[in-house]
Amino acid sequence: MALPPNHRLPTDTDDGMAVIISGPSGVGKTTITRGIERSISDAVFSVSWTTRPSSGIDVEGVDYHFATDDEFEAMRDKGEFLETAGVYGKKYGTPKGWVFEQLKRGRLVILEIDIVGAVNVKKQIPDAFAIFVLPPNEESLLERLRGRRREEEAAIQKRFAQAKAEIAHARTCGVYDLFLVNEHLDDALGKAIKAIGVERERRRMQTR
Ligand code: ADP
Ligand code: 5GP
Repeated sequence: MALPPNHRLPTDTDDGMAVIISGPSGVGKTTITRGIERSISDAVFSVSWTTRPSSGIDVEGVDYHFATDDEFEAMRDKGEFLETAGVYGKKYGTPKGWVFEQLKRGRLVILEIDIVGAVNVKKQIPDAFAIFVLPPNEESLLERLRGRRREEEAAIQKRFAQAKAEIAHARTCGVYDLFLVNEHLDDALGKAIKAIGVERERRRMQTR
């Protein structure tokens, strides 16, 4: 049964915060995002819509919602996306209604999106906290891309070349609040969780 629009659940708070996680393909965004979800009890992951085919490892509704081009365009026409972007020739979009609903309920909403998406989300949610994940060096990024076992070598090389341009763009676009080097996973995850906690507490104090 659908709840009335302004119904307040016992678990609702006023602490809603959007966290953007960006970074080149293979840098460890998904690993870090899932770690944040496990460590912060009210964190929820925004499942994007995409026209890219499922890799086979992806779970529908957990990693992505998969759509045809026509389905995606129909959703865009109806204004159902907070932002959309074209990445590697495929379309990706963040579900608008779901994100605002979760923020209203006080949740920590994680958006794993690219730089174009981050710029557009910041226009609509200026206090979104944006993290850009960096590899410790180029060689480890290439190793991790291969380690995901998702693409053929040609696609891996394409993503690797793109990664270098993305990192340069991220540093100059002025959107990111934190650049996080993912060398040792536990260390990077700990830093991300700490930075999010400090920022959330700062906002709580401000609104008191
Ligand atoms: P992305 O979501 O950015 O494409 P993933 O989270 O899928 O990246 O990680 C890519 C690969 O790198 C995975 O095999 C993951 O287990 C591995 N990985 C993630 N973080 C680290 C790390 N700090 N050290 C070594 N391997 C890592
Ligand atoms: P992948 O296909 O490897 O999962 O994702 C490719 C790129 O698309 C990544 O940089 C990822 O962050 C980005 N991405 C995934 N979902 C969205 C989205 O909804 N919006 C935007 N702008 N980028 C997205």
